[in-house]
Amino acid sequence: MNEPTSRPEIVGRGAREGARLFREWFEGLSAAAERNQTAAYVFVMGSLAEILRVFDLPVVFPEINSLQTAVRHVAHEYLNEAEDYGYSTDICGYVKADVALQLRGGDHPMGRVPKPGLAVLTNACNTYLKWAEIWERMYSMPVVTIDVPGSRADGTQAMPGSDGFERDRKYVEAQLHELIEICENITGIKFDIDRLREVLGHANGVLRAWPKLVELNSARPSVFNALTEGTVYLGVANGLRGTEEGARFFDDLVEEMGYKAEHGIGTLTEELYRLLFVGVPCYPIFRRFNEMFSEWGGTFVGSTYLLFASGGANYPFQYDLKKPMESLSAGVLLTVRAAMDSMFYQDRVLLEMAERMHADGVVYHPIKSCRTVSTGLADGRRALIAKRDMATLFIESDMMDRRVVSEAQLKNRIDAFFEGLASRKHRALVQ
Ligand code: SF4
Repeated sequence: MNEPTSRPEIVGRGAREGARLFREWFEGLSAAAERNQTAAYVFVMGSLAEILRVFDLPVVFPEINSLQTAVRHVAHEYLNEAEDYGYSTDICGYVKADVALQLRGGDHPMGRVPKPGLAVLTNACNTYLKWAEIWERMYSMPVVTIDVPGSRADGTQAMPGSDGFERDRKYVEAQLHELIEICENITGIKFDIDRLREVLGHANGVLRAWPKLVELNSARPSVFNALTEGTVYLGVANGLRGTEEGARFFDDLVEEMGYKAEHGIGTLTEELYRLLFVGVPCYPIFRRFNEMFSEWGGTFVGSTYLLFASGGANYPFQYDLKKPMESLSAGVLLTVRAAMDSMFYQDRVLLEMAERMHADGVVYHPIKSCRTVSTGLADGRRALIAKRDMATLFIESDMMDRRVVSEAQLKNRIDAFFEGLASRKHRALVQ
């Protein structure tokens, strides 16, 4: 067997390359803004980058722009500006940071963001609809909403091969044709089905790798931190979906994580507790938030964030390049629906994940800014505990607004959680 150091260059490659690709993607957006080129504004749950790339439209993810202001400790400036402009304190912080960014002419700590020439959204979050209306008012540009049929009730989803699925798929496909027509009108470029095939082939790279990546973290010790490194991988999965570099990055990442799993290379010197994370991370103190867990030997092996913020890329699906539109509509239906299910039926997802990932506990992180993800988490936690004896922690803060993030309070709760985990472990050993 190879020694862990026999290929030292492979370990850490994903984090390095991910950061580079992410930076370059932003530089490309800044260059587009300098040329006065407009972009397609999209969201992580159903970006439709597969179609937009056919028309060479730069793709902007306002959710990612906003979270970056928090990671770079300037979100409060953007939030204050939007609130002074008239937005209420209690609406989604991502929206407010973006409003301030628009008021600043696209000025962002990582560069300049082009204005929208088109917005594409799905119904995965109701805020998407109201958010796009803001751009519509500011720029009078077209907004396309793709209505993706969600699960009517858990366990009743229409599956491929059934009449119900085919009806839903055709409904999505008809909307994709409308989107294509609008893209043709605004770019003057004729839709090219072979170019779509090419983009779908690259998107298959991400769709093939993402479930493997999530699965590889069931290794002991776990090979990446789902919260910190996972956020970098999410950035690349969204920003470079449908590109050759994106596909190559994920092939390499799976290779790296496979190597780490094989050689027992973990993220912590000593992994004592394997945790699952539910919700959206606490970006204003992102590093410190994670440290409060890692100092106790706790690491996040899985999260619902890796499922819904990847647009459901965990759902095992490959585009069939022989039937591109049919396959694209089926993929959008299945993956966006999976993203919604991982928010709204998260207790089922967690039960299965806890088993597979050998988790010791679940950390619920409802946040003030995002009701879509946070609503129902208390009920979800009760449902989980009723079905499985599992240690859980319920801590509230925010993904953007540092005014509602109390590090001292979080630390108290987290420390108490680990003391409970330690005594559980001790009881299990002496029984
Ligand atoms: S409410 Fe939540 S899911 Fe919706 S846009 Fe805001 S952060 Fe994203």
